[in-house]
Amino acid sequence: MSMHTKNFNMDSFKKPEPNNFKLTEFRRDLHNRHKREVHMRKERLRAVETRFLAKQMITVDTSRARSNCDVVRMCIKELGLKEFPFGRKEHCDIHWHAVSYEENPDLYGGKVNKFPGMTDICSKMMLFRSLDQMRELFPSDYDFYPRTWYMPTQFHEFSCEVRKLTEKRVKPRPTYIVKPDSGAQGDGIYLIRDPVDYTPSPNGKCHVVQEYLSHVYLIDRYKFDLRVYVVLKSIEPLDIHICKDGLARFSTLPYETPTYKNLHESFMHLTNYSLNKRSTTFNRSERSDEGSKRTISSVLRKINLNGKDGDQVWKTIERIVCKTVIAMLPTMRIEYQANIPSGKTKLSCFQILGFDIILMDDLKPMLLEVNSGPSLSIECEQEVAPGIVEYVASPTDEEIKRPLVRDTMMLVVPKEKLKYCRRRKRRLKRLQQEQRESCRSGKRPRFKSEPLQRQRTHILIINADEPDESKREIDVTKQMSEMHLDHYKDSRDQESATSRDAAKDLSEVDMPKMELDSEMSESHDDDTIHEEDSHEDDHDHDSPTSRRESCLKHIYPAIYDDEFERLRLLERVAELFRFCLGVRGSLRIGPTGFRTFARKCRLNRRGMTNAAIDIMYIDMQRKFDHMNPERTSENKPKKTVGLCFQGFLSSCLEIARRKFYAPTKLEMLENLLEYCEVNICQRDDDMPPTLPRLQYRPKQSSSSYGQSSTFRRKMTRDIREETIEDLLDKTQKNSEIEAFLRQGRRMNYVPKPVLDQPTFMSFNSE
Ligand code: ADP
Repeated sequence: MSMHTKNFNMDSFKKPEPNNFKLTEFRRDLHNRHKREVHMRKERLRAVETRFLAKQMITVDTSRARSNCDVVRMCIKELGLKEFPFGRKEHCDIHWHAVSYEENPDLYGGKVNKFPGMTDICSKMMLFRSLDQMRELFPSDYDFYPRTWYMPTQFHEFSCEVRKLTEKRVKPRPTYIVKPDSGAQGDGIYLIRDPVDYTPSPNGKCHVVQEYLSHVYLIDRYKFDLRVYVVLKSIEPLDIHICKDGLARFSTLPYETPTYKNLHESFMHLTNYSLNKRSTTFNRSERSDEGSKRTISSVLRKINLNGKDGDQVWKTIERIVCKTVIAMLPTMRIEYQANIPSGKTKLSCFQILGFDIILMDDLKPMLLEVNSGPSLSIECEQEVAPGIVEYVASPTDEEIKRPLVRDTMMLVVPKEKLKYCRRRKRRLKRLQQEQRESCRSGKRPRFKSEPLQRQRTHILIINADEPDESKREIDVTKQMSEMHLDHYKDSRDQESATSRDAAKDLSEVDMPKMELDSEMSESHDDDTIHEEDSHEDDHDHDSPTSRRESCLKHIYPAIYDDEFERLRLLERVAELFRFCLGVRGSLRIGPTGFRTFARKCRLNRRGMTNAAIDIMYIDMQRKFDHMNPERTSENKPKKTVGLCFQGFLSSCLEIARRKFYAPTKLEMLENLLEYCEVNICQRDDDMPPTLPRLQYRPKQSSSSYGQSSTFRRKMTRDIREETIEDLLDKTQKNSEIEAFLRQGRRMNYVPKPVLDQPTFMSFNSE
């Protein structure tokens, strides 16, 4: 033991003496200079990369993609785009969010996958009101949704209707379905047969009550509905695409027509996936033509097999989609203008909508709902043990949703960058071919690790203890490069953005090299991209996915423009509304705006007195606020106080009925619009240039769809303009308004306390 201690050399534990370091002044200088150079090169690279990304790469912000993240990321990789999972200081080309537009207030450029106000526009109340207003004008075109009442406002009308049917002893007794206005996934839905069974929500939430469609088309005795995906590429001009396939969601209990006994059977009457997946009889078959979730194409095939015309069904669905979007369009335009003023030219929106459609037993499609944020999740729950669920990939969902997202991205990416995408892919293909060939021939591939290595700064390790001067410096550059390259290869399965950044950090390269590296990293992304490439040289089309047929079909204006041009009348009303909106960015018209509308359109010449206009305003505003107090409460910000577009449209219809009588409502409204437009044009010259000019779509001009043109101006200047003060001076009494409202039994009108001014004056300030 003692021998050991004696022989042990304690020198090896000693720290090297500081004067052992041979880091001379000269070396320190060299080292600092080198560090500066590296830093400068990095800075240069970063600047080049920013410019390169801005010019060439198609960038996607997925920081708020939430549950859409998986499928969006897959598509980004497949298309070779650049993802920013944590957002970006500059705007990206595409912002793919799972939240509403209003939750992203800072956007100023790029394409955003949500239109402003869409959650409200697609809420059941607003959607069916818009459709009802179109049905008033075009009854035979808008017969594709069940009759709807708005609760609690229309409880009385609903009760009367049910009583009438009961008195007539209609057989079978109709059933009604109650749905919360802003509900989803079947929450809060129940069936009733008697109005007394309707339970108003304790927290004042509104409902729609709809005729329950009991005679529906069944497959294998099960009820199902169709989820049709629609891409709204733009609203100015209107551009609609439909996904050629979609999902069919089946209920999990065999269907029976409703009776008192089975009214509560939600697994029989509701087809929501979120609800039925909890059923013990939910069939998770992975085949697209079996199970509780299938593809629409498989359903249409079944319909064809039963001797019916599935293609005709699909064409009717396409028409329903166009008509519904046309009904929603005026409100969408108003929201768009309020949220995205004309100055924000770099920003535009697109959106994927989910249309829920059910087939009647005669195969007539009926619209149940439009979903503003359809689920794009490609996973499904699977119960692995009692009470334990696991998320597994759902092949049917992936089959539909992946092409949908990919082709939607391709539809909206900046076209000028697509050219670069194509070139890069061609280079990528060449690179791969070379690599394959060199592997086969055993030669060193041209681009393998060499660019990285050549660009590296030498790394030296100085061993100060080494007595032999020539061995004191060890160059580890080569080993390091190989290590990095290994790491680089290992991380190739990770997302492209991360791997590209890693590669960038490893090598201080110049622009062409960087491009090459990014290609190399992308070359590992996904095999399908290369399969695609192999065909690209043959077919030099615009899109990198051009080899594959897109899953999206352009339906408007491509196919249905001529057919539905006549339905786009309400856009002219929306223009009038926008013209009279007082405050920039507001969504509602105030009393002054409404009076201005009447004055500018010279409605007084048609016998509409100022008092009548004020009364109409108060009446409509109350009616529409009462219709949905949730959205119009007085606590809301100023831009949501006043008369909404739907209220304005109802006022126009009322004015048209009173003063522009014609055999049909449509003609009356057309007469009113023409009269208003002509009068506004006459006054257009007097307007200050900052005010918006009224735009309109010329009637029946299919070629100029979506293109608005300013009104024709008539040069009649000799008419004396009556001012609003002139009108206000005319006697109008508070009592007039009160008497009118009492006469109409509008119970919710609360007379104001006695004021010095007449009541209508209290509305003067917007
Ligand atoms: P949610 O937004 O909560 O999913 P939906 O309007 O989509 O509400 O309705 C849920 C389900 O109820 C539909 O998938 C459909 O099966 C059924 N349903 C809804 N409305 C009707 C109706 N009028 N007639 C028959 N079934 C309906």
